[in-house]
Amino acid sequence: MRLPRGLSRALTRRWGLWGLLVLLVLSMLGTLVWLASRYEISQVQEQLDRDGVDAVNDIRAGLQRNVQALQTLVSLPTQDPSPAAWSREAAELLRGHREWVRIERRDTDLKVLQAADSTFRAPVFSRYGRDISQPEVLAACSVARRQVGPGYSRSNYVSVQDGLGLEVMELCLPQLVNSRLTGYLVISYSLSDTLFRMLPSTLVRRQQVSFTEADGTRLAMQGSLRQGSRIFSTQQLLDLPGHTLVVRVDSWHAAPDLIPNVLPALVTGMAIALVTVLMMLGRDMRRRQRVESDLADALAFRKAMEDSLVTGLRARDLNGRITYVNPAFCEMVGFEPHELLGHGIPAPYWPPEMFAEYGQRQALRLAGNAPPREGVESVFIRKSGERFQVLIFEAPLINAQGKQTGWMSAVLDISAQRRVEELSRASLDRLQATARLAMVGEMASLLSHELNQPLAAIASYATGSLNLLASTQGHHDPAHLTPSLQEAMQRIAQQAQRAGQVIKSVHNFVRRREQAHEPVKPRELLDSVMPLVHLQARKLAVQVRIDCAAGLPPVLCDRTMVEQVLLNLARNAMQAMADIPLAQQTRLLSLRVLPAASNAHQQWLLFEVADVGPGISAEASQQLFTPFFTTKAEGMGLGLSLCRTVVEQHGGYLGHRANTPQGTVFSFTLAVATDAQRHDTQATLPSPDLPSSDKTAATLA
Ligand code: ADP
Repeated sequence: MRLPRGLSRALTRRWGLWGLLVLLVLSMLGTLVWLASRYEISQVQEQLDRDGVDAVNDIRAGLQRNVQALQTLVSLPTQDPSPAAWSREAAELLRGHREWVRIERRDTDLKVLQAADSTFRAPVFSRYGRDISQPEVLAACSVARRQVGPGYSRSNYVSVQDGLGLEVMELCLPQLVNSRLTGYLVISYSLSDTLFRMLPSTLVRRQQVSFTEADGTRLAMQGSLRQGSRIFSTQQLLDLPGHTLVVRVDSWHAAPDLIPNVLPALVTGMAIALVTVLMMLGRDMRRRQRVESDLADALAFRKAMEDSLVTGLRARDLNGRITYVNPAFCEMVGFEPHELLGHGIPAPYWPPEMFAEYGQRQALRLAGNAPPREGVESVFIRKSGERFQVLIFEAPLINAQGKQTGWMSAVLDISAQRRVEELSRASLDRLQATARLAMVGEMASLLSHELNQPLAAIASYATGSLNLLASTQGHHDPAHLTPSLQEAMQRIAQQAQRAGQVIKSVHNFVRRREQAHEPVKPRELLDSVMPLVHLQARKLAVQVRIDCAAGLPPVLCDRTMVEQVLLNLARNAMQAMADIPLAQQTRLLSLRVLPAASNAHQQWLLFEVADVGPGISAEASQQLFTPFFTTKAEGMGLGLSLCRTVVEQHGGYLGHRANTPQGTVFSFTLAVATDAQRHDTQATLPSPDLPSSDKTAATLA
């Protein structure tokens, strides 16, 4: 995952600081250890130097002591000392000084008068003789003579056996009698034993002490050099009369410890502890970084999830203040996040009329009452003012310490769902209505079939009765019958025939057969329904007014069906006025025919049926043409629906509007017959199934 730039820069800086800190601590630690070890080295070196000086002093003191010890020999009577006495004395001295190899008494020409060898070793000069050391003796004695005191020679290697030998240094003491040189005492020092005898054993146990020449050649040494990573050494000069020896001291406890003493050890320990803590901190930091990175991942994942959600999310604290909203919620309510965040009660998306109810709900929530799990339905208002239904699911918001800090809500916009439900309910209703309509159609078809025969019989019998009446009264011509009786019988025949035609039209309509369209003058249409309209108008005390200009062209229509439409509308209008108190308002039914808006291809006539009844409410007008919608106790609710279907099948339009000052005007349009259609009427006229009254009469006769 790529880290944001700011975060990566902060990380780099943090790592840099850590690196610097570690570097500083390490350099401090290194300097400290280096200084401490340098100090330790200088300490060791100083100690060694001191030891070197001590060794030189010890040797010098030893040599002086020896010179003093030799005074007994020197002060023996110089003139002819008894050889035995000298030998005795010399042997005595040799026993006490193991560093001496040999003592000689020489005359002033350095000729050996008498000699005594140390009994602690084989005589050193027995192999090659004493002459080998003559130059050294000469040198030492010349110093002794010059200085009138002890003179030392440089050392000389004397081989004793094959491969074995020792370095020997000569000491020459002048023997003076009354300030006159009478001879010399020459003492041969074994250098190796000198070191052994004259240095304290503690020194040689810890260090190696040696006599060396100026070029570094070792002459004699004491003590052993242990192996070490570093060897310290010091060289001191042993300045003797006649010769200067170099005393070299090598220390074997040479490698100073890396942690030489308590203070640096303490500091080092602390530094180590510090480094350990730093490492632990570093590890902790790495862990934190990992956690931070995981957290950033989780956050990015959560954000992507929230942004992709179509469910609105909203969090509120315990005071009802909004603390979080996701994009889906903002889109739902139409507010920007900054307009919502921190907003308390009432929320900006609450409809004003719901403030009280929502406030109560909120109070219950704050009192700790959990909302139902299945959610709560509410109404919210968008910023645009549009209200919409939502389903809210709420859950307590618990923080990391397990304490409730508020409520988290998931909000679903269910307005679309509700609309769909409404639509499906309406379509289900329509489906049921259609099913019932289909059944009604079946019944109507059956009835029309069944009623055909009785109606034909009524028409026939009416005509037959007319003929019989005439013949029983001796008149063969029915025209001579009492006019009223004759008219009544004719009306019976006419209405029976009309009923037959209605039934046939309905049958055709239901069966969707080709309907017979013919050009009919509008006035004729009105006239044919007038008798029935008047019949009902009289009963309901309704006045009927007809307004139809004489020169209007004929319309092309299924005459019977259009008559039914007119009759239906007129009947509805009259029924609507039935409850109007006559004292207040005249019940007036107006039937009007007038030219409607037309174009070059088609002319239209407008038929209007107006009443002064109570009018139609907005609610009722929505369902007016829905099958089975009725407000009447006896109504079927099919009239208007059928009327519209008939008008629409003729290519026209059926509508309604409010009448002034009151009532309703139902109107429909019908197409005017073209010239060609007016002259071609016979072809479209169906041959009637129903026997005509004349035919029936003929049959009866
Ligand atoms: P029905 O007459 O059997 O009730 P309709 O389809 O003819 O069925 O009428 C449906 C409803 O329309 C009536 O019940 C009535 O409430 C209303 N209606 C129809 N015509 C008018 C009118 N002229 N004035 C007021 N209401 C009317």
